[in-house]
Amino acid sequence: MNVLVAVKRVIDYNVKVRVKADQTGVETANVKMSMNPFDEIGVEEAIRLREAGKAEEIVAVSLGPQQCQETIRTALAMGADRGIHVKTDEELQPLAVAKLLKAVIEEERPGLVILGKQAIDDDSNQTGQMVAALLGWPQATFASKLDIGDESARITREVDGGLDTVDVRVPCVMTTDLRLNEPRYASLPNIMKAKKKPIAEKTPEEMGVDITPRLKTVQVIEPPGREAGIKVESVAELVDKLHKEAGVI
Ligand code: AMP
Repeated sequence: MNVLVAVKRVIDYNVKVRVKADQTGVETANVKMSMNPFDEIGVEEAIRLREAGKAEEIVAVSLGPQQCQETIRTALAMGADRGIHVKTDEELQPLAVAKLLKAVIEEERPGLVILGKQAIDDDSNQTGQMVAALLGWPQATFASKLDIGDESARITREVDGGLDTVDVRVPCVMTTDLRLNEPRYASLPNIMKAKKKPIAEKTPEEMGVDITPRLKTVQVIEPPGREAGIKVESVAELVDKLHKEAGVI
């Protein structure tokens, strides 16, 4: 069985994101970019499947501008076998990503497709679900445990207040949650080896996929700043303020 992992290039999670002055989006110029953390977990899970003899080839796919190749190289350095880059400088919304991934998946025919549960830049949490729907494949989202066989996979999902374990037919789509695994760092020899691994290039046009955005961003604004706290002299004063000023009791 082959595993296909989607890897998105996003602003690094350590960066303090700044909103552009014209409120049309966030500043990405001269900002450190990295692989979406949930996608690192996806790559790690695929590698563990191969190490356990349950997967043969791991293909890492990224969609977007030329620099996405760096994200694919990171996946290759972690242990993926080859990459596919769907190159475009146009804005890609989740539906467009899902349609492009569907086209790649129909060509590659993997047994398992792994995506992150959400990309930390747009927080959409849509792409995996859309890919599964477009393909008509079973899906298990927010996975914290995977046990895969030839015909089916048992996946534990993190849901509010507990765990939900489902059996899905293979091929299926799975999206990763934080506790699925702890991704490895790429070793120096593997970073060197990754330079020689192949990355195929495609474009949405040659794939015949319409990527026209369906949504328009109206405005992006900073969350309101936190007001400074105050010190109160007594419990009575605290209760009074909570009642009269905060209106919470
Ligand atoms: P989202 O639905 O935007 O929150 O993204 C969920 C997941 O879809 C990500 O964690 C990635 O696995 C995948 N994904 C979204 N956009 C891209 C992209 N441009 N390239 C590769 N994978 C993507």
